[in-house]
Amino acid sequence: MTHRVALITGGSRGIGAGIAEALAKDGFDIALTYARNADAAEATAAKVRAQGRKALCIQADGTTVAGNQAGVAETLKEFGRIDTLVCNAGTYPYGPIGEMSVEQIEHVLNLNVRAVMVETMEAVKHMKEGGRLIFIGSAFGARAPFPGISLYAATKAALRGFTQGVARDLGPKGITVNVVEPGPIDTDMNPATGDVAKLISSFVATGKYGTVQDIASMVSFLASPQAGYITGAALPVDGGLEA
Ligand code: NDP
Repeated sequence: MTHRVALITGGSRGIGAGIAEALAKDGFDIALTYARNADAAEATAAKVRAQGRKALCIQADGTTVAGNQAGVAETLKEFGRIDTLVCNAGTYPYGPIGEMSVEQIEHVLNLNVRAVMVETMEAVKHMKEGGRLIFIGSAFGARAPFPGISLYAATKAALRGFTQGVARDLGPKGITVNVVEPGPIDTDMNPATGDVAKLISSFVATGKYGTVQDIASMVSFLASPQAGYITGAALPVDGGLEA
């Protein structure tokens, strides 16, 4: 396999860490961003290196434009190219809209939406034919099945429109863009234990949470040459979440 480089935002823990490991197995060198957890980022990097691939950890706050630009710039400085960009870092504000603050609205918009736009804008300047943009949306981008998730659902829905638009922009250049929409996945953000997890599981056809590997498998496929004719799509990996 030829030398390829993937940048994964929020690659220190959870779904992003699982994606880093999977893409390293596929032969990618990996750059990953994190916000606070340097130890977790280094632990993921060690798993990448154990696959014989290179790893770079970048501390970059995804809620700032400077942080979004730094992720792309540091990756290019170290590896000289970006073949696959996985915009995964995200936040999950929970509560009825009347109880949210403007600060919470800005925070979720900046990390879940603006970061994806800025990182994409910066990365595509350097991406060649065969490049891949993969966004981690959510099953709640297509539906909001219970109260308290309006901000989150709105940001993940925004990724659908962005994906379709960018697919039109970049299709002629041979660069694909897709949004993966996970259902409940057992991570620090959404642990598969307790009463809330029981309620969420009741919405899922399989009756249980998915794993980070379930999402990483889809990302791995989308990043592969075999997925070259898939673009502008929202791909559910949600255990059959009901409408
Ligand atoms: P986690 O909370 O387990 O991990 C979040 C990751 O994002 C960490 O690597 C964290 O870095 C990083 N991160 C958080 N804030 C920032 C920031 N300001 N700047 C840069 N990086 C940041 O989340 P998940 O793995 O569960 O979620 C990953 C993505 O998947 C998110 O977009 C989420 O919305 C989406 N998703 C998750 C689902 C689930 O059920 N878990 C379901 C559907 C979608 P650090 O370690 O430094 O904090």
